[in-house]
This record gives sequence, C-alpha cells and structure tokens, in this order.
Amino acid sequence: MSLKDLDVSGKKVLVRVDFNVPLDGDKKITDDTRIAKAAPTIKYLLEHGAAVILMSHLGRPQKKKLEDGSIDREAFSLSPIVPTLEDYIGCQVQFVHDTIGEDAKAAVAVLEPGQVLLLENTRFYSGESQGDQDLAKGMADLADMYVNDAFGTAHREHASTATVARFFDAHHKAFGFLIEAELNGAERLLNNPVHPVTAIVGGAKVSDKILLLEKLLDFADNIIIGGAMAYTFSLAKGGKVGNSLVEPDKTDKALELLEKAAATDTKVYLPVDTVVGKEFNNETPTKIVPAGSIEDEWEGLDIGPDSVSLFAGVIAESKSILWNGPMGVFEMANFAKGTNGIAEAVAQATQNNGAYSLIGGGDSVSAINQAGLAEQVSFVSTGGGAMLELLEGKELPGIAAIRS
Ligand code: AMP
Repeated sequence: MSLKDLDVSGKKVLVRVDFNVPLDGDKKITDDTRIAKAAPTIKYLLEHGAAVILMSHLGRPQKKKLEDGSIDREAFSLSPIVPTLEDYIGCQVQFVHDTIGEDAKAAVAVLEPGQVLLLENTRFYSGESQGDQDLAKGMADLADMYVNDAFGTAHREHASTATVARFFDAHHKAFGFLIEAELNGAERLLNNPVHPVTAIVGGAKVSDKILLLEKLLDFADNIIIGGAMAYTFSLAKGGKVGNSLVEPDKTDKALELLEKAAATDTKVYLPVDTVVGKEFNNETPTKIVPAGSIEDEWEGLDIGPDSVSLFAGVIAESKSILWNGPMGVFEMANFAKGTNGIAEAVAQATQNNGAYSLIGGGDSVSAINQAGLAEQVSFVSTGGGAMLELLEGKELPGIAAIRS
C-alpha cells in the first residue's frame, strides 16, 4: 500500500527511518543525507494529522560494548540527531531514552497529532538484529500504523524493519516515499527498461558482484567492468596483473561469465589500459600501460584514458544506465580520473540524450557526489547493500513484510 492511501489522520504512526548517520568525536553529524531523505515522509505524515513515532538504529552498539559488558548508551544514543532533524522537518522533536519500555509508552501516550517523538536506538536490544518477535510486538504496540522508509536496512530481517510489519494488516502499513522511490528506480531498470541498457560495474571484488553480473545478463545489452574487479578478468584471460588486487580463485567464474555473456549476446567491455602505481598511495610514481601488461611490482589503481573513451562511447549510446562501483581507487585524487570520467559520461547521457541513470551502491554514490554530478543523473540510491540485492532480483525482507 502507498503511504498516500493510508488514512493517517489522528493516528499514531510508527516510522522506521534510517538515521544511521556518521558522527564525529563531538557528536556532530558529518553527512546528514539520510536525515534529509527521511524528511518528506515525516512532513507528509505531520501535515496529514498523524502523531509520528520515529525509530532507527545507529552504529553497532552490540559489537562495541563497555568493559562491564553493558551497552554504551551515550556513544550510540540517537539524541544528537534531534537538532538536525528539527531543521529538516521544521518542528520540535521530542526524544525519549527508551524504545519499547515504560518511558517510551508514557511518551507515546501523550503524543498529539502533529507532534514527533524519536525513540532510542533499536540496536540497544540484542533481539533487533535477530528479528525478535517480542521486541517487534513491543514496537508494534506503540502505534496504530507502521511505515517503513529505511531503505538502507530493507535487506535486513530485523525486528524494526521486518518482524514489526507483520503485526499490522495491509491497511495499516506502507512504504515511505524514500523506499517507494528506490523501488521505482530499480523497477525502471529491471522491468522493461528502454534499450540499450548499459551496466557499469566496478569496485574491489568480483566475488561481491557475481550475483549482480549474472542477473545483468538477463537484461543488459552492455556490461562495462572496471575497478580492481577487472584485473581478475584480465588474469582469467591470461593477462599479467602485477601486484594488482585480484581474486585468483574467481578466474573460472570470470571466464564463465564471459561465456554466458557471449551466449546471451551481452557485450562485455573490459579496460584496454590501466594506470599503475608502485605503491598504494596517492604520491606513488605512476604510468599508463596496456591492460594485461602490468609488470611485477606495479599495481593497477585506475582505468586509463583509452578505457574512459571506450566506455564513454558506449555510455553515450545508452538509454538506461546502472552504475555500481568505482573504476579505481577514487578516494586518491591521482586515481580518480577514470571514475570521474565515467561520472561525466553518465551525467552527459542523462542530460543530453535523456537516458535514465541509476547510481546504486555506497562507493559509486560517494564518487558521483565527489564529482559534483549527483544532480545530473536520474536517481542516486541511498542503500548500497539493499540496492545491490534488489538489482540481483532478491526479495528484501523489509519490502516483503510490507507487501504481505
Ligand atoms: P566496492 O565496495 O566493491 O564497490 O569497492 C569499492 C572500493 O574498491 C573502493 O574503496 C575503491 O578504492 C576500491 N577499488 C577500486 N579499484 C581498485 C583498484 N584498482 N585497486 C584497489 N582497490 C580498488
């Protein structure tokens, strides 16, 4: 059910948001994108007369306990989120240092329509990540309706993301606007995309992207492979990869993918040249060498300029584009040119040729932001792992629990 179909007026609505934002040593938020992205759903609910109860996780408090084995409630509290959230939604936010206990119930009991209450970190309970029924029931008992807008954790079967939804029937639960937009973005690529479809896949490891690559064979016309992943393909084809990051145990898989691609008429583009460095740092001496000719003691850290031209030409001819994973070690300026060149090409295809472009995956999102081009592509996903699983064709627990 869509949020707009729920009659939320006068109701208490429990909203699972993703406020898992990075905080510095002074508890200052260093990137508030997730809060900004959650704001439209919260504002809509307030404007339509709901009392809004927000819950989220923050960090991994169960993994970083205090010496006596207790939760470090101060380090992982959601309270530092409040001022930034208030700025985004334009109203006061109440905070309670409790999630489902008596204090939370008392705060919910007096919550009026048009008011917002933020509960404490859901991961203070070990049952959260186990999808615990009792914890989820405690959450569900707080509200009349449940809305899930935490796309970044939709691939987790947790109490607050999946189990809780099962305590509400189809007329009392919905996706928030962020999840809806993410689902629409993925569906635009997966269901009847406008061809030619080009997928650009990069990043560190073939092993992380095998399922995605296999799924892409179903609907992509072109697959561009960059990043360290490309060296495993190069090795599989008999190339020399020097000290590059490779997965020798995945060369069979790489060859199998190339064979399957040939059988399904999917064109696979691998880099034709590569920027190599002596060491893994930005100041290391570099040179450009043909792909498959990396000498010992050198390591491939970016795609070369001829690869950027080749890939940009394919991207320019595309009508649907998916980008997941950087072309090189873009965090270091001297090895960011390949990734930036691809970002340019994707932005141009979107702006000049009306291509639909989806940037999915944490690092490609940082890369498009770093290139200053996030506004010039069609959709930038907020969920790395969740978007990857969605594109792999998996049913995400947080999505399934709303639909069932
Ligand atoms: P992933 O999370 O799999 O998308 O991988 C992203 C990471 O891959 C980034 O941190 C990049 O720095 C890294 N990466 C990309 N290309 C290379 C390369 N040639 N060598 C080492 N790391 C790379």
